[in-house]
Amino acid sequence: MRIQELHQSLADIGARPCHIGRINRAWLKGLPLDTGTRYQKGEDYFPLSVRHGLPPIVAQVEGLARIHSQHTAVDGSLRLLVALGDGQMVESVLLPRDGLCVSSQVGCAVGCTFCMTGKSGLLRQLGSAEIAAQVVLARRIRPVKKVVFMGMGEPAHNLDNVLDAINLLGTDGNIGHKNLVFSSVGDPRVFERLPQQRVKPALALSLHTTRADLRAQLLPRAPRIDPVDLIEQGDANARQVGYPIQYQWTLLAGINDTQEEMDAIIRLLKGRYGILNLIPYNSQEEDSFQRPSSERIDAMKRYLHDSGVLTKIRDSAGQDIDGGCGQLRARAAGVVDTSRLRKRVSAQPPE
Ligand code: SF4
Repeated sequence: MRIQELHQSLADIGARPCHIGRINRAWLKGLPLDTGTRYQKGEDYFPLSVRHGLPPIVAQVEGLARIHSQHTAVDGSLRLLVALGDGQMVESVLLPRDGLCVSSQVGCAVGCTFCMTGKSGLLRQLGSAEIAAQVVLARRIRPVKKVVFMGMGEPAHNLDNVLDAINLLGTDGNIGHKNLVFSSVGDPRVFERLPQQRVKPALALSLHTTRADLRAQLLPRAPRIDPVDLIEQGDANARQVGYPIQYQWTLLAGINDTQEEMDAIIRLLKGRYGILNLIPYNSQEEDSFQRPSSERIDAMKRYLHDSGVLTKIRDSAGQDIDGGCGQLRARAAGVVDTSRLRKRVSAQPPE
């Protein structure tokens, strides 16, 4: 369901824009749709036709998404396996410090070789109301002041729905615009559309390597943009919207944690308006890809930081509870295959 369809249903029962705004705000706080304010009860504000017409709409909205299971991690994050109306499942993660990571698609067409979600391909798009509903469910558990679109799916492949959800969250959802973070593998439409929005989100770009050949292997169906050009476009976007860009780098031992990569990162990112997030891979024993040692991760961070690249280590939330994107859903669906792909992926550049 799209947010516009919800608004049309409300208009059809006689709700005017002011009523729709109040219903949006109540919904996005996780409250009943007909909640009034401190000074005015719902029954004193909404016209009779709205009060009588609301119950089937409430049922429809409540049916968009429900929590199938919750998994608490030692780092304070809480992973939610969310069942959609048709039984498909996505993951949302409540992060420490009032953040929430949401999904934008069931599955994903990009097929990153280190990602469980990518293994299933794209199953379906989420409607904008289903994306917002993940925030509603999370806010019924604890406050959400930041929403990152880094869960299942490539947000740029569901651009209109994601931008509609961002627009609602940045207005009636009361989330600061720079606290809405759109993540992409570098779809050109993102650079064109994001700066035009009324609510301009921050941008995170999945870089993972400075080598075009390795990037094509790790992200097989991402747009073939040379990492050098990707960084140029990212930098231009950051300066346009006024918030630093986040470059995402999933750390894979022996693949993209090499000295050559670090030196190339310094050449490309030093002095840029951005942050490099090193995300150590969430490996399991039998995985082909492995997480570098803690000593290696710390040494990388120090080296990059000391060389003028603002670098942070971001562990994927909930390491102890299938913390990688799509692992919970895969387990629930019985499709966990931990013999991950490392086909044709090599740390060595071609001759
Ligand atoms: S890492 Fe992101 S873009 Fe890549 S397959 Fe997984 S969900 Fe899709």
